[in-house]
Amino acid sequence: MALKALDILKLLPQKRGCKECGCPTCLAFAMKLAQKQARIDDCPYVSDESKAALEGASAPPMKLVTIGAGDSKLEIGNETVMFRHEETFYHPPGIAVRVPDDLDAEALAARVAAIGALKFVRVGMDIRANVVVVENASCDAVRFKAAVDAASKLDLPMVLVAEKAAHIAAALPACAGKKPLIHAARPDNWEEFAKVAKENGCSLAVKAPDLEALAELTGKVKAAGVEDMVLDLTADRLSTTLQTLTVARRLALKKGARDLGYPSIVFAAGGDVFEEVAQAATYVAKYAGIVVTSLTKAEQVLPLLTVRQNVFTDPRKPIQVEPAVYEVGAANPKSPVLITTNFSLTYYTVEGEVEASRVPAYIGVIDTEGTSVLTAFASDKLTAEGVAKLLKSDALKDKVSHKKVIIPGYIAAMSGALQDESGWEVIVGPREASGIPKFLKTMWS
Ligand code: SF4
Repeated sequence: MALKALDILKLLPQKRGCKECGCPTCLAFAMKLAQKQARIDDCPYVSDESKAALEGASAPPMKLVTIGAGDSKLEIGNETVMFRHEETFYHPPGIAVRVPDDLDAEALAARVAAIGALKFVRVGMDIRANVVVVENASCDAVRFKAAVDAASKLDLPMVLVAEKAAHIAAALPACAGKKPLIHAARPDNWEEFAKVAKENGCSLAVKAPDLEALAELTGKVKAAGVEDMVLDLTADRLSTTLQTLTVARRLALKKGARDLGYPSIVFAAGGDVFEEVAQAATYVAKYAGIVVTSLTKAEQVLPLLTVRQNVFTDPRKPIQVEPAVYEVGAANPKSPVLITTNFSLTYYTVEGEVEASRVPAYIGVIDTEGTSVLTAFASDKLTAEGVAKLLKSDALKDKVSHKKVIIPGYIAAMSGALQDESGWEVIVGPREASGIPKFLKTMWS
């Protein structure tokens, strides 16, 4: 936990009137340190012991762990809050799909191909299942290596799961350079796993019957030279796993439990697909670093990716699109002009419905600082003047031969002012984007 100024003061030499740090007193310097506006080295008299204590206290409460390499690498951990509204969540969890090595060659290839296809575009952003987990279900080292080899063709971070460290060591050359997460060191085998992880520069998952034993285990693994660990917090029931995820995070963030200050991995399992999706979505929200599933179909994985995208956007910075005039389909001078805001979710919903209408159109996007239609209108970010400015701008000048604009139904009250301001005929469109296809097909044509 971060130290307060008075705690820091106790670690300073407190030479009266020295001021060599540039502060009038040691307390002033301590206050700057607490606010991270000064460096401990600015005081030449701090002892090595005090430096170590201060540096240890300023380390993040949860370690940042990197799995994989290159552009597709996954970074998890380094979170600072329990609740998103307190600040933000920084590192979205990996959504991982299992590849058991007891599949036959055809099924193995199909599973790998299915995982590779789990990618989508939502609100203008690329989202995908972004981790592959190879499991040594066969308990055979040769089959495991073959499965790791097949899965490594995907440009994704990997998790290698085996009971025997020797099987992991034998499979690692098949994914050389990928720096996979090795799963898992337990109280009875941690030395072998830690050795393999250390020798290959890999991160290591650790698992124990309870948090106390887990904290003891991470201490031993760390002492053996493995710094990057991931806690396997999977329990036999959803409620227990959720409780363990929450308690571990609280202990790390609020109580300064360094031995539990690592991101986590959990394995979702359910009686059926729906239960597995629900479990996995729960773990995405609280507080898994990697959520492992057996789900391989788009309709099963997309809900998880959507939850992840929603929870891990910064509430202080709404996702926005560039304010501009966008063309949907082969728009021509007679195509309709619709107005909306630059809040991504609003824009892409409108764009999707215009596309579905099969009526080529222009969408004029007003800069409302990422707020939706009603919020923007209520806060004077979506005004008749702003829309008129866009209508009169060069962005539309050579595009349409008419002067008719469709505004969202929710801001019908703007019609008169906009007509006066712009000289365009204002048509009030549907309130909900879902009404756009019918509206364009009937009203516009
Ligand atoms: S240099 Fe060190 S001892 Fe001197 S005033 Fe600053 S903190 Fe105190």
